[in-house]
Amino acid sequence: MHLSKTQKRIVNDIETGAGRSQWRDWKWQMQHCIRSLDTFEDLLRIRLPRDQRKVFEETIDKFPMSITPYYLSLINTDDLENDPVFKQSFPSPLELSIQKGDMADPLHEDKDSPMECLMHRYPDRALLMVSNMCSMYCRHCTRKRRVGDVDSIPSKTVLLEAIDYIRNTPQIRDVLLSGGDPFLLSDNHLDWILTELQTIDHVEVIRIGTRTPVVMPYRITQDLVDMLKTHQPLWINTHFNHPRELTQSSRTALAMLADAGIPLGNQSVLLAGVNDCPRIMRALVHKLVANRVRPYYLYQCDLSEGLSHFRTPVGKGIQILESLIGHTSGFCVPTYVIDAPGGGGKIPVMPNYLISWSTNKVVLRNYEGVITTYKEPDSYEPIFCDRECDCCDLQLGLEDADEQKSVGIEKLLSDHDKTIALVPANNVRHQRRDLVEL
Ligand SMILES: *Cc1c(COP(=O)(O)O)cnc(C)c1O
Repeated sequence: MHLSKTQKRIVNDIETGAGRSQWRDWKWQMQHCIRSLDTFEDLLRIRLPRDQRKVFEETIDKFPMSITPYYLSLINTDDLENDPVFKQSFPSPLELSIQKGDMADPLHEDKDSPMECLMHRYPDRALLMVSNMCSMYCRHCTRKRRVGDVDSIPSKTVLLEAIDYIRNTPQIRDVLLSGGDPFLLSDNHLDWILTELQTIDHVEVIRIGTRTPVVMPYRITQDLVDMLKTHQPLWINTHFNHPRELTQSSRTALAMLADAGIPLGNQSVLLAGVNDCPRIMRALVHKLVANRVRPYYLYQCDLSEGLSHFRTPVGKGIQILESLIGHTSGFCVPTYVIDAPGGGGKIPVMPNYLISWSTNKVVLRNYEGVITTYKEPDSYEPIFCDRECDCCDLQLGLEDADEQKSVGIEKLLSDHDKTIALVPANNVRHQRRDLVEL
């Protein structure tokens, strides 16, 4: 795999003599993130309009900039105005215009946080912010209020407090590691967090949300993957917004994760001027599934301050779903969600397929516009329900099926069964024992 001409030039400019090995070293990428307008212009051989310099400076004073050399190299300098990579990474003066209705913390994340780095909003899952670093600062970040807070990792003590909260909250069966980007932590530190979480019996799955496969794919090293592999069941969600972001390097990163048996999902944000187009979204989801990534969520851009220029009407998202559902594979279709202002969580939004109904019939339409009916049963008695969920004694069969059922003497002879004796139900000696225990 070769570096592009732009990539070679960027390497040479950043560090005379720095070779290809450095380009693929994620720590080198981190050390050389582009944080100033001058470097941005120099590396891309462009000049921003002089009269706008000041307002760009003001913008990055309020909302800092950071772009990895890799992500920078994807910018199409011939068409900056329309380039999705540029728009997601380079500040727009429009970020400074705060609209009526914008909020610093629209999702009330700070209020749903029992402690600094933990958010517990849904009954059975919690979000652990393990890192507040990012390699690339997405211009559309929902936690924009925190971007550029001095990069610091929550200390082990702080993390242990949050992990203790999870340990003491048995309802939590799913823990999401987020940030910041968890993959900016060292392999060792991440390994430690995952190991701690796995000592908790009620934590059934762990998820990691990361944008490194998009903005710094070299972070996905064999060492990282080998470590992650030891922590199954582990799910990873990444954040591709545009088909252009699927490059040879990002495909390699995704393949390494998928080959390790880690299920991959993708969360996109619907962004005006970036991906608010059915054709773009269709190309994106097709490329994702071809790389073993299942589109998971499509987010309506939320009400954080500085994002107004990225917001679309909700109808745009509905239109995009309308163009996907039925027209392409079911597993290409993400769930379109609006994260409720005030902290109500994600609310799914769909085109309407149910047109009307009566007591025994529903009227539906399909993706082609065909209108059809479905006749419902005349009577329905739920066999699986005695309407007393609290003391349900029906056989719901929620436990695993026993593959090695054995009975009688066979049971005693088998190595996999721990039974040591078969005793008749009304054995007097055992009855006496039971009495004593009472
Ligand atoms: C999105 C989110 C989750 C996870 O939600 P899922 O719908 O299960 O993916 C959990 N906690 C918080 C605070 C979230 O924002």
